[in-house]
Amino acid sequence: MPISRRDFLTSALAGSVAVGLSTGTQAAQDSPGNKNTAKHAAKLPIIISAANGYNYLDQAYAFLSSGGDTLDAALKVVQGPENDPNDESVGLGGHPNEEGVVELDACCMHGPTRTAGSVAGVHNIKNVSLLSNTVRLHTGHVMLVGEGAARFGVAQGFQRENLLTERSRKEWLLWKETHSDWWGPGLDSPDWRRRFSGATTADEWEQRIRRMEQIAADIGIPPELRMEAIRYVIFPPTGTIHCSALSEKAEISGCTTTSGLAWKIPGRVGDSPIIGAGCYTDQNVGSAGATGNGEENLKVAGAHTIVENMRHGMSPLDAGMDALKRIVRNYNGDKDRLQFVDMVYYILRKDGAYAGVSLWEGYETNKPHQIAVHDGTRRLEKTVNLFAGASQSWPPVRMVR
Ligand code: ASP
Repeated sequence: MPISRRDFLTSALAGSVAVGLSTGTQAAQDSPGNKNTAKHAAKLPIIISAANGYNYLDQAYAFLSSGGDTLDAALKVVQGPENDPNDESVGLGGHPNEEGVVELDACCMHGPTRTAGSVAGVHNIKNVSLLSNTVRLHTGHVMLVGEGAARFGVAQGFQRENLLTERSRKEWLLWKETHSDWWGPGLDSPDWRRRFSGATTADEWEQRIRRMEQIAADIGIPPELRMEAIRYVIFPPTGTIHCSALSEKAEISGCTTTSGLAWKIPGRVGDSPIIGAGCYTDQNVGSAGATGNGEENLKVAGAHTIVENMRHGMSPLDAGMDALKRIVRNYNGDKDRLQFVDMVYYILRKDGAYAGVSLWEGYETNKPHQIAVHDGTRRLEKTVNLFAGASQSWPPVRMVR
């Protein structure tokens, strides 16, 4: 739904933009007290994914139910967003890097054969999830990156194609013309508060947005998409899809694919293609995957941590909460910083128990993070959040009244 300037200023700026340094966020909720979904379904087969996989679950579930392979089923789900030009977080139409080039990452793990494949920093090949699977099947390696991965793909029959849609190209142009101060310092730098320099008044913000609107109009961004484009420029978005599938025979696999962080430095790789961070599957235990701040997830090897936690007896919910708490510990619980971290884990145990957990409720409180599930019934369920409230967009903007 198009957003107006007024909506943007009141929600994105008054809500998502940090007003000063104190967050006012509520105390952490302990997982057992949280009444959100934490189902322990034992219905097989079952597929879980990030919410953007919801529309593709039916066909993958039918395939899995009729004896299809678990990784092939998961790949069917993630190819949906990869092929969708309107999903700007994955594959075709994904937001490009700072040079305007769509740069994709993916990985997969096949439980029954205990094999894995991964690709990172790939240009011009849309279905990098399938490319990661081709690395798994047709090389003695696990990971290929950059042009080498693309050439391998072409040799294996993948087409090179332009992945930059007109929409994502124009959003990138808007970013090029209007951005500043992008490279750092990062959230984990001792100097992170420098990002708050340049406090601005609401009037200045309104003027800035008007200027950006004019440039967006000149670039040819349609009026109904301008505010969203401006939001993407000010707060570079991420987005990804993970999917794990478990068959009736209790075979389990998982995969994750992404275009990563919008406007990233060429060569930046997040967690998604890293086996053990963006995805991890162990046939004896279960499977897990992540969406959210890749840098934070890399530092806790989230998916592997979760699977190891389940191996040692934790429920999917507790295993995921523990990984989130490791991220919290990396910041000594400092919510001034943690408010800018967004993380969601999708967790499936080998017996069919599953959980979706998130650090915060959502990007916006009225849009909670969700996990998509199909175990005969297709549905979206709210994740169990560690902290109440919504995460804030990075980089921060300080408003003065
Ligand atoms: N984790 C992805 C990355 O950092 C982005 C995301 O999931 O939103 O590249």
